[in-house]
Amino acid sequence: MEIRDRYAPSPTGLQHIGGIRTALFNYLFARSRGGKFILRLEDTDRTRFDPSYVQNLYDTFAWLGLHWDEGPDAGGPAGPYIQSERFELYKKYAAGLVEAGKAYYCFCSPQRLEAVRKEREAAHASETGYDRHCRDLPPAEAARRAEAGEAHTIRLKIPLGGDLPVTRFRDQLLGDIEWKNSDINPDPVLLKSDGFPTYHLANVVDDHLMGISHVLRAQEWLPSTPLHVIMYQAFGWEYPEYCHLPMVMGQDGKKLSKRHGATSIDEFRRQGYLPEALINYVALLGCSYEEGGDFQGEAGLPSRKTGIYTLEELERRFSLDKLNKAPAIFDYKKLEWYNGHYIRMKSDQELAALALPWAAGLFGKSGNLPSRDEGLSAQNGGLPSQGEGKPSPEQWRAFIAAMPLIKERVSFLQEIPAKLEYLFSEPPLPQAEEFIPKKSDLRETIRLLRLGRSLLEPMAGANDQEAEALAKAEAERREVKLGDLLMPLRVAVTGSRVSPPLFGSVRILGAVRCLERADRALAVLEGAAGNSGPSLAERDAQ
Ligand code: GLU
Ligand code: ZN
Repeated sequence: MEIRDRYAPSPTGLQHIGGIRTALFNYLFARSRGGKFILRLEDTDRTRFDPSYVQNLYDTFAWLGLHWDEGPDAGGPAGPYIQSERFELYKKYAAGLVEAGKAYYCFCSPQRLEAVRKEREAAHASETGYDRHCRDLPPAEAARRAEAGEAHTIRLKIPLGGDLPVTRFRDQLLGDIEWKNSDINPDPVLLKSDGFPTYHLANVVDDHLMGISHVLRAQEWLPSTPLHVIMYQAFGWEYPEYCHLPMVMGQDGKKLSKRHGATSIDEFRRQGYLPEALINYVALLGCSYEEGGDFQGEAGLPSRKTGIYTLEELERRFSLDKLNKAPAIFDYKKLEWYNGHYIRMKSDQELAALALPWAAGLFGKSGNLPSRDEGLSAQNGGLPSQGEGKPSPEQWRAFIAAMPLIKERVSFLQEIPAKLEYLFSEPPLPQAEEFIPKKSDLRETIRLLRLGRSLLEPMAGANDQEAEALAKAEAERREVKLGDLLMPLRVAVTGSRVSPPLFGSVRILGAVRCLERADRALAVLEGAAGNSGPSLAERDAQ
């Protein structure tokens, strides 16, 4: 059997974690079985539809690097893949069901339906919804009224009594499911009076016509499935394999929602998450990928023990029998950890390009954000375009060179620029106390900074080991602690006691700028000490 599955979003909102998880599992299932993954837009709800949501869908999946084999943009043999372009089909199939006696015309006005609903509610009736008022109209009479133009819907005849009081189907994850027909929405509408299909009709007709073999969807759709199975039976079609995916919960055990944190992929993107991290983490929501043990981790990636998987690996390993029944808990901390991991896996050049959209403030006075696409094209070694808020060639080189300084210290791209501000503009000069190492004093600090200053020139041309050796030798010679020697220098150069590594910073800034910063700091310290000794310039000349 050819495996064909689909992601069938309704473009009525931004793409969010739950939708992405459904799409990813369908994608992985199709890939793991050499099948086809299809995108279908279920845009029958025209009141909540917005074209920006369609754009968001395309942007999100392009960013994630997930592609469908067939879809509105990709084309394919089962198109069109947009439901609003298939309305004639749904009408035809609904009419077919009426003809076969499996569905019927309902002429009830909205007012009548509302009155029935209220009446039943007031009476606390066990049955709610439609009262099947038109179910037994003589078909010939109903057909005449419909043809004469009387407003009507088409409703599915849920089999009642007789030998079909229950509907059974098998769910790949949940096992055998049995549903009393009397518990199913009484004779739901398939075609509305304006000729629009309901979700149920369009979904079933399309899954059939598109040759969908497997429906992997969120568990909230489970109550619709008996109804869908009845429709397949009414059409005389075979229904697909169903697999209702485990729920995704927040850590409080409630369905994941905005209350828990970001849920839309746009938000994660804005915060500086990498697509690799989202894919890796979302793939683990309700599924495991461990297996035999013959797997070799890819270059530099710790393999299965830590749950690090590339998309290719996930494609190889995904299988429905590794799904968990229990709800998955979405852990923002874990996702953050994955993001830090994938940030560390990037080359300096790649990381700089990825961080660029957040870095406008570093490079120019007025922060004009370079677009993400510019950041991405810069990944291929290109230089981002010039202009306000964009780096000069020198700044760009410095930005790339600075990546090793922060790679181990950030979890999000967004954090990177703030940590590197001191490389691109003069950091505000801290108060004198900030420079003073523990158990030291101002006079001693001035001496230490002078010693440190003398190291800047050779340090700027040295690698980390050489710079450290230089500093150690000087500390020994002057009988001071290495940490004490470097603390005032660090504050002078970076503007902070806690900063990215000093040696790398000195290298990137260069001797001239570092000497200027050291002198600026010395002036402050000496001012604070009321130092009346020889001025710096004088001493340098000595
Ligand atoms: N359009 C439905 C949704 O928005 C599709 C459900 C299904 O996969 O059948 O999730
Ligand atoms: Zn009716």
